[in-house]
Amino acid sequence: MILMNDFKSEPPELRNGMLSAVQRVLESGWYVLGNEVENFEAAWAQTCGVSHAIGLANGMDAIEIALRSLDIGPGDEVITTSMSAFATVLAIYRSGATPVLADIESETALLSLSSVRRCVTRKTKAIVLVHLYGQIRGISEFVAFCEEQGIYLVEDCAQAHLAKVGGRIAGSFGIAGAYSFYPTKNLGAPGDAGMLVTSDVGIADRARRLRNYGQSIRYFHPVIGLNSRLDEIHAAILSERLTLLNEFTRRRQTIGEAFHARINNKLVRLLSAPESIDSHVYHLFVVTCAHRESLRAHLENKGVQTLIHYPLPLHHQEACLSIQRDSDGLSVSLQHAETCLSIPCHPQMTDSDVDLVIDAVNSFWVG
Ligand SMILES: *Cc1c(COP(=O)(O)O)cnc(C)c1O
Repeated sequence: MILMNDFKSEPPELRNGMLSAVQRVLESGWYVLGNEVENFEAAWAQTCGVSHAIGLANGMDAIEIALRSLDIGPGDEVITTSMSAFATVLAIYRSGATPVLADIESETALLSLSSVRRCVTRKTKAIVLVHLYGQIRGISEFVAFCEEQGIYLVEDCAQAHLAKVGGRIAGSFGIAGAYSFYPTKNLGAPGDAGMLVTSDVGIADRARRLRNYGQSIRYFHPVIGLNSRLDEIHAAILSERLTLLNEFTRRRQTIGEAFHARINNKLVRLLSAPESIDSHVYHLFVVTCAHRESLRAHLENKGVQTLIHYPLPLHHQEACLSIQRDSDGLSVSLQHAETCLSIPCHPQMTDSDVDLVIDAVNSFWVG
């Protein structure tokens, strides 16, 4: 079976590196907010080309803390896409702000700027722009739009490690970027972890307080914070895994290009190919198909695992049925949710795995 993720077939050198990273932490006797976190924060800030990186417990907290560090909360509105992980909208709720959902473009499944325009009100304070599936697109239009409107751009980079446009990396375009290092992300820890990146020193300072109970100096709490610290063990393992991120990302991109070049089944639609290869890191390779369930069954039969990202748009989630939204509706998000299918695209796939997936997709037909 070709799996959606296959950690067990990662290189043995990587596993050994991770084991020695864990050993290093255990021998140090220091487990929370120490050198490992500082080193990984510095490495990730440098990778992203920003001045500050703040290690956090997970990616959802990174979005919440970014918003709260911008003083966004009750009474404020934050616009995001209806096609994302639930964590995106949950983080906005947790900040106390009111989420407002905009629709997507069907060719990319990314946030539609014209839909966003319809969602803006006097209360709008920020857009959370999700680089869904690993793609950055239309970023200069969003940056310009936010400037013109006087609102903040916060990037949800949970799926977009190393995605690059014009030499700049995800998280460096907006006022802040939120990363997740959940195990299945392009850079993943063996557990939950996240990071906020920014070049604004004020945001960085407030985020550091918020992650640690709102503490300024030890045992003094000027604000109500949360406990959202990155652990030393996870930071040490992430530093180790970071050494292979370039290589793993290139492999994902090679596979993505092969899919674009060679999947040619009329019943299966691909999202549009990226404008430049660097701008898409293929966290997921997503196709759409009117006969999704048959396609899934066919692929399963051929030994290809699939998943759906995501089967329900956020406005159809039971917890969000009355959520504020584009007055023209969110029909493209719904259409995408009903037809999208993610096929395996990860760095451990061999060339013959890639051939097998392509042949399996191309041999699908409806009798
Ligand atoms: C994974 C993910 C998150 C949340 O990250 P966690 O670390 O799981 O909290 C947020 N947004 C998107 C787009 C994601 O894929």
